[in-house]
Amino acid sequence: MTSYDVLIVGAGHAGAQAAVVLRQQGYEGTVAIVGDEPEIPYERPPLSKDYLAGEKAFERILIRPATFWGERKVEMLTGRRVTQVDPAAKTVTIAGGEQIGYGTLIWAAGGSPRMLPCEGADLKGIHVVRTRADADAMKDALDHVTDVVVVGGGYIGLEAAAVLSKFGKKVTVLEALPRVLARVAGEPLSRFYEEEHRAHGVDVRLDAKMAGFVGEAGALTGVRMADGEIIPAQMAIVGIGIIPAVAPLLEAGATGGNGVDVDQFCQTSLPDIYAIGDCAAHANDFCDGEHIRLESVQNANDQASCVAKGIMGDRQPYHAVPWFWSNQYDLKLQTVGLSTGHDDIVVRGEPASRNFSVVYLKQGRVIALDCVNATKDYVQGRKLVIDRISPDRDKLADAGVPLKELVA
Ligand code: FAD
Repeated sequence: MTSYDVLIVGAGHAGAQAAVVLRQQGYEGTVAIVGDEPEIPYERPPLSKDYLAGEKAFERILIRPATFWGERKVEMLTGRRVTQVDPAAKTVTIAGGEQIGYGTLIWAAGGSPRMLPCEGADLKGIHVVRTRADADAMKDALDHVTDVVVVGGGYIGLEAAAVLSKFGKKVTVLEALPRVLARVAGEPLSRFYEEEHRAHGVDVRLDAKMAGFVGEAGALTGVRMADGEIIPAQMAIVGIGIIPAVAPLLEAGATGGNGVDVDQFCQTSLPDIYAIGDCAAHANDFCDGEHIRLESVQNANDQASCVAKGIMGDRQPYHAVPWFWSNQYDLKLQTVGLSTGHDDIVVRGEPASRNFSVVYLKQGRVIALDCVNATKDYVQGRKLVIDRISPDRDKLADAGVPLKELVA
């Protein structure tokens, strides 16, 4: 049986970064990454943005070129799915029966898209966007598509809607809640994006009650709404979140549920097993220690660094300010902090100018910012979030006052 000093499960953002940082820090033990996709690690955000739009080739979204991994002696065991973990024997089992031993296991398996358990869910033409294969399947089908329904008004669904409407498709977005981005952003941002999409011809439907998919000869022809209306669609994109890929760890006895629980060093309840990235449920300092999973490149990279440095003896608790971005049309959104639990919102600038920021406060202190085409606010506002500063509210609302002046 082959064994590695560090075995990483999941060849995505977090897994790749863990290996990169281990080698950067001078780690000399053996390192391998097991991943169930055929590709070496690549960036996922472009899958709903410029890769989907055909503006970036796959080679340009690789996290590191193929030669990097060989030069750094990181073994890439792609196309292999881990089905079991045995923490006592310190082995994992790959589908098909192969076993691999480990000294330390880093679980970085992300999650798989949540599907809709409704009528017609297995029709051809229903897509999700998580992998390169998913994005390629959409791109391959596009020539035969005139109408697209996006189920879910979250970032991924809205980004895909923006790309497809630019391609001239007739796009409908179905959001079950009263506003898009409801789980991640405040109302001003939701309303702004709803209007932007409508201005680009997207039919944004809120409080939308979908009943199922309808088709002919196994292929999607439309989406049936609860009131009986059928919205024509040859393509549907379901973007309603992910289910964290943690079953083998939970079956091995790790605590968790929605993800696997980790402590402040990203360690699971099982010995020598860490979990990082989308699948790791951790107490986050930027939402009062609430136990959450973050689905962002920032979190994947920073948790990976935290674990890799810990393995090298520099054990520091995970404490990184969350940040995120989203590109839709010519709008660049940059967010910092977590707005969960805010009790006040200040809008800096005019949304109609397409250059503004939404600032979230809790008990007078800044906890998050969403900046639309407002990179200066994003850069200067980070400190307000990190230090939970309590600024003068009038100055905060005045877009003419640079945020750096409120930091002192
Ligand atoms: P992943 O990158 O998903 O990697 C996990 C890997 O593990 C996958 O390859 C998976 O197939 C594999 N795997 C799962 N189970 C097993 C198993 N049992 N055995 C072996 N391998 C396994 N974040 C941002 O910050 N900004 C954005 O703009 C943004 N846009 C996004 C757009 C899209 C379309 C998507 C899908 C995500 C986006 N994200 C964005 C989120 C970001 O990509 C994720 O947070 C990040 O990829 C998480 O990294 P991860 O390593 O935890 O998981």
